[in-house]
Amino acid sequence: FAKRAADGKVHYFDAPQAKADAQVVRQRQRIQEGLAQDEFFLEYQPKVDMRRGVVVGAEALIRWRHPERGLLQPIHFVPLLEDEMLAEQVGQWVIGTALRQLYDWREAGLRMSVSVNVSPLHMMRHDFVDRLTEQLAQYPKLGAGALELEILETTAISQFATVARFVEACRALGVAVAIDDFGTGYSSLTYLRQLPVSSVKIDQSFIREMLDSEPDRAIVQGILLLLKALGRTAVAEGVETPAHGEALLAMGCTLAQGYGIAKPMAADHMQRWVAGFERAP
Ligand code: C2E
Ligand code: MG
Ligand code: MG
Ligand code: MG
Repeated sequence: FAKRAADGKVHYFDAPQAKADAQVVRQRQRIQEGLAQDEFFLEYQPKVDMRRGVVVGAEALIRWRHPERGLLQPIHFVPLLEDEMLAEQVGQWVIGTALRQLYDWREAGLRMSVSVNVSPLHMMRHDFVDRLTEQLAQYPKLGAGALELEILETTAISQFATVARFVEACRALGVAVAIDDFGTGYSSLTYLRQLPVSSVKIDQSFIREMLDSEPDRAIVQGILLLLKALGRTAVAEGVETPAHGEALLAMGCTLAQGYGIAKPMAADHMQRWVAGFERAP
């Protein structure tokens, strides 16, 4: 069954594909309902300075308390955000919720910042910066450096011009931008030089293998030297054991996140966790 459409192209009707499309449409509607019904929430994973023994930030990670399917991790629904409107709706909810939380933490005396993962389609919305400006205006006390946005390295490379403008605009607002999962894309060195991102998160795959694999260790060391030369802050992701932390410190990397430091936790637990971490010898 083929028919010629107005654009002159021939379209074949594909029943399994149509069924899959319909399912995606339904799942996206379900996400919108979930937002309206307050089914989403954020967990926060501390980012610490291993040398000074202080908590410098927390990364917001989305979860979905689904009434029928139980607790869902991002892998089960973030891929469905590849729709501009939905990416924007969820993304703004995440930014708004994280800012509100940070405001509460700051009021309670915590000095840290908060990081939010931004999906490519949300970032590319033409009014992203205007909306972000409005959201920040609700918390004038937070000041510059309070919020950091994480974008994937793969996006930074494939959408270089857009991302470069985005990073500049964020910087003007006092919002830091970090490259996430660094090392998983093509990791062109020139793109990093031209993007004024404040920090770079080394992908957990390299950190995890680092102790057993000489090549992975060399990659981590190489990335750290490069970032130092470019004046960017390095953050290690996926620090699962004290041995990983020690190896990183020996290579000059002081900032880290990982299960070995803390798993993502409910916002309510953060204050107590920070107090415990910063009191430890
Ligand atoms: P990511 O931004 O690279 O976040 C790190 C992921 O690794 C998180 O998984 C975190 O729980 C996990 N992780 C942290 N430390 C360790 C460790 O030591 N070992 C291991 N094995 N894993 C560790 P999570 O929460 O499932 O998130 C997965 C991805 O989903 C994130 O990767 C991010 O790309 C995306 N994501 C999460 N929240 C959001 C959000 O609010 N918006 C968007 N657009 N994407 C999100
Ligand atoms: Mg991230
Ligand atoms: Mg990452
Ligand atoms: Mg990741």
